[in-house]
Amino acid sequence: MIDYTLHVRLLVEDIVARTPALAHVDPRRVLVFARHGRSDAHGAFATCHSLMLPASEPAYYFWRDRRTGALSRRSEWFVTRSPEVRVAGRRISHLVSIALPRFCDQTLTDTHKERVYERGEAWMAKLDTIVHELYHVDPHEGGIRRTVAADGRPAVQTHTPQFFRDVQRIVREYVAGGPDPAVREFLGLDFEGLVKRHGGVAGTVFRDFPAFPQRYRERLADQPRAPRAPQIVPVPPRPHRRLFTEADLVLREFLPNSTRRLQRGQTPEPGTRSLPDSGL
Ligand SMILES: [Zn+2]
Repeated sequence: MIDYTLHVRLLVEDIVARTPALAHVDPRRVLVFARHGRSDAHGAFATCHSLMLPASEPAYYFWRDRRTGALSRRSEWFVTRSPEVRVAGRRISHLVSIALPRFCDQTLTDTHKERVYERGEAWMAKLDTIVHELYHVDPHEGGIRRTVAADGRPAVQTHTPQFFRDVQRIVREYVAGGPDPAVREFLGLDFEGLVKRHGGVAGTVFRDFPAFPQRYRERLADQPRAPRAPQIVPVPPRPHRRLFTEADLVLREFLPNSTRRLQRGQTPEPGTRSLPDSGL
């Protein structure tokens, strides 16, 4: 079985090491994990999640009376926080999730990329997706890159035309730099091809799969009294996990329509990092 997220991770290390525009990305602080995404369903191929965003300003939800417009209910005040993920004692700044098997079945015709890359090079579309997620890593704040509009002011959208052009330039420069093709060879196969060659596709997930560390709401200990409302709705006291470590990471097998836990003996040796037929 191929450990797909491990291969993405090794590719990330290679891209970052060879790409000045991504020199601020520390691969030891980026955790690649898998989510399930069917190939025949719409959805993202991959997503970049920052864990370094500061706590939000205090806020509350509210409801208004439809007729009078008066405040009828509001929630307690809360702040929204990022959970902490630590691997090997190091704080992870970003999670990159890969949707399996959808990511493996990405083709150039799925996206705008058809006009950008050569025909028959579907692996370039996948490489573009990985570079795209890395390019979201903010060079300064450790959050998500703020893009700049044509007039120099911060853009409302994260995905400006310039963002896509920058990603395409980085992809071309990386490929032109002559990297070892073995590092990205796995991108050349679709899901069926990977299963044929490796016997199956696995990926790192969080133990509570499909859950993964996400921002959570925390009730403010000191509740402001304002604004007054006839009803105050409590913030659910659900015990949100604040800290995750490598002990929360497990491997899961991905199938076209489902996933399953890997049994003992199916998992690779800890620390196995060989190419290209590594693991499992
Ligand atoms: Zn994006």
